[in-house]
Amino acid sequence: MQLNYFNFTESILPFSMKTDVHSPETRSYNMSQIKGKNTKPELMVRKFLFSQGFRYRLHVKYLPGRPDIVLPKYKTVIFVHGCFWHGHEGCKYFVVPKTRTEWWLNKITDTQRRDDETLFNIKSLGYKVITVWTCELRGKKNERFIALKETIINK
Ligand SMILES: [Zn+2]
Repeated sequence: MQLNYFNFTESILPFSMKTDVHSPETRSYNMSQIKGKNTKPELMVRKFLFSQGFRYRLHVKYLPGRPDIVLPKYKTVIFVHGCFWHGHEGCKYFVVPKTRTEWWLNKITDTQRRDDETLFNIKSLGYKVITVWTCELRGKKNERFIALKETIINK
């Protein structure tokens, strides 16, 4: 494979789960890991929101796409998307592997199609949808967090 091994593995492998003092949701741990729930980037976002006084629900089943974070008071949902799996356009962490390229592309295109559908369905229920990409949580994450807060609060 030609691609940068470090970036590649870091962007596709699930981050190890850390203790999240703000959430009792450790049920079905294995399942959540398989589905990429409770990833480190997601926990970072949750921790920030909690510290700012936001209260949220997690992986809400009754909403399309089972959003990672739901802020009922603001009728806002947040998805924390891995740049590789969700095919973050123009992102340096979205590198299509040189082997089994077609298989990966199909898989990622499927995910993108599902994401678009989810976005449309949730918006049509009157929710604001915010996508946080994991690349945005590297380095300048405070800027992303400030912007996130403003997006939530501003109607
Ligand atoms: Zn990205």
